[in-house]
Amino acid sequence: MSNALKLDAVSKTYNRGKPNALKVLDGASLTLEAGEVVALVAPSGAGKSTLLHIAGLLDSCDGGQVSIGGTDMTGLSDARRTAARREEIGFIYQFHHLLPEFSAIENVVLPQLANAVPEHAAREHAMQLLARVGVDHRANNRPAQLSGGEQQRVAFCRAMANKPRVLLADEPTGNLDPATSDKVFEALMELVRETGLSALIATHNLELAARMDRIVRLENGQLA
Ligand code: ADP
Repeated sequence: MSNALKLDAVSKTYNRGKPNALKVLDGASLTLEAGEVVALVAPSGAGKSTLLHIAGLLDSCDGGQVSIGGTDMTGLSDARRTAARREEIGFIYQFHHLLPEFSAIENVVLPQLANAVPEHAAREHAMQLLARVGVDHRANNRPAQLSGGEQQRVAFCRAMANKPRVLLADEPTGNLDPATSDKVFEALMELVRETGLSALIATHNLELAARMDRIVRLENGQLA
């Protein structure tokens, strides 16, 4: 079976060729096997977000290769990258980034409609996801009417809505108080395990990191 995500000697320099050039990634390599959940641990400013954005095809690298499901994504056109991102990748940020004018369920339905799923099927699947993380009773509320933990649970459902191959998360519980963070993280892990997804989850929290299959550290632009 091909691996879910492979980063091969990825490098990235901001402001290349300028006096303030900053080399953030310098040959970072990582293989995420199907179903594997890996913690990405690094001090702030080390380049975690940069790495996740490159892995999620939101940003490009200057050197190296990013493959998803065995397909090299590095040289794709913008249109193909956008399609690959929509079909293969789920992204969770520290802040939920839900659409404020739409209800919780609509936030989970919309990405499916963009992927040509019929509306009734999209709603049914959205409701199943919301129920699995315990927020189905809030389905018709807008994000502003939900607690921080509930908002983040809905954001997990949105990220999973199109059954991606890879889930990328940037401090997914970093905005929550410790007790809520623990519960919400548990819900995320259950959802990931149930769906058999591969995940790369950045966290500062070593206790949460220890609950994943493996920890990789980002240091001096490389992964170990
Ligand atoms: P982390 O997520 O680990 O905190 P980031 O990937 O956000 O780290 O940033 C790594 C370094 O790159 C930081 O020093 C940051 O200031 C710098 N950086 C991030 N994005 C840009 C950008 N678009 N242009 C220039 N420098 C950037």
